[in-house]
Amino acid sequence: MDLDYLQMLMGEEEVVVEEEGEGYRNIWVVAERVGDELAPVTLEMLNQAQQLASTLGAYVMAVLVGGDETLAQELIYHGADKVFLFDDPALKDYALEPYIKALGDLFAEKMPEIVLCGATDVGGELAPRLARRLDAVALTNCTGLTLDASQRTLVCTMPVYDGEYSEVVAFSPEVHPQIVTVQPGVFGLPYRDEYRSAEVETVAVDLDGAQPRVKVLNVVAEAEREPVPLPKARIIVSAGRGMGDAEGFALVEQLAAALSGEVAGSRGAVDEGWIDEEKQVGMGGATVRPDLYIACGISGAIQHYFGIQDAKFVVAINRDENAPIFKVADVGIVADAKEVIPAIIEALEA
Ligand SMILES: Cc1cc2nc3c(=O)[nH]c(=O)nc-3n(C[C@H](O)[C@H](O)[C@H](O)COP(=O)(O)OP(=O)(O)OC[C@H]3O[C@@H](n4cnc5c(N)ncnc54)[C@H](O)[C@@H]3O)c2cc1C
Repeated sequence: MDLDYLQMLMGEEEVVVEEEGEGYRNIWVVAERVGDELAPVTLEMLNQAQQLASTLGAYVMAVLVGGDETLAQELIYHGADKVFLFDDPALKDYALEPYIKALGDLFAEKMPEIVLCGATDVGGELAPRLARRLDAVALTNCTGLTLDASQRTLVCTMPVYDGEYSEVVAFSPEVHPQIVTVQPGVFGLPYRDEYRSAEVETVAVDLDGAQPRVKVLNVVAEAEREPVPLPKARIIVSAGRGMGDAEGFALVEQLAAALSGEVAGSRGAVDEGWIDEEKQVGMGGATVRPDLYIACGISGAIQHYFGIQDAKFVVAINRDENAPIFKVADVGIVADAKEVIPAIIEALEA
């Protein structure tokens, strides 16, 4: 396969997958879409699949249900050696029964060695059902994948006890295919190589007897969250005068929303008129005990500290390294909060 790839790089030749062969073979990625794009976890899985494939001397196959040629090409640019595309309009929107039928039939015929699905709502539904249908086993929410190359088995790291510990679990060599769901964000994105070319095979599926048993009638936006009183809040993002202006304060609100936390402030923020007095933390305001308190542009005067001394974990962002807040913070970030907060929000959204 390496030679094929080298030839392709030099001569821009298409990767030609040899499909002949006995037994279970190749690493398969079940692609997922978000709107009209591929879900980032799909690309991350292609990256990981390529590494596994180079150890096993296998190909990376991607299967795209309900997508189109453009997305199939993206899968190739990101590392798929071949794409199987179900472009049936009945499969445009995700529905469990038709998707299981399409994937189950394809896998029963192609006999994958390993199948990677995203640890998403969709992947979490598909993987165990595919395992049942194919008389296989699915390991879910993996945060690490390595190979026992001598046995050709996957060794998966999976969080247990709410993520407090990790378990390392190996498939038994008799299990085929080895199906896993992979947590988004744990593997890097692959390089997008527009010069890669490979085959896209359109596949048809007989959906007789695989009609969806439930139908999505409507999608409603998440109901607005009721504010939690500050003394009971588990996550508080708090603004000080250092946020500079209303625009800076809005960043604190955005960070709190991204963390599903509450917004609070110092006396400085109250004096600036950005926040009501009832949201003031400190001697003249609320005493709080959150799991996480993020102080943004707050000096950490004793009157403020009085209100947060029982907080379990304090993160302080202040551009003055001598600010008293750093004496009580578990993590201190010496920086401009207006630069740091957008970066944190971006990371959280990713
Ligand atoms: C009787 C009494 C009761 C009080 N009760 C309270 C109370 O309940 N709660 C309370 O908070 N205070 C209380 N105070 C007021 C308290 O003493 C402080 O004046 C107040 O906490 C200061 O607010 P601040 O830290 O937001 O503002 P400042 O003291 O002005 O500090 C702003 C901080 O932001 C930093 N900064 C500036 N720009 C940036 C940037 N771009 N990025 C990152 N950091 C930046 C600065 O380095 C500075 O450390 C009380 C005072 C008295 C006398």
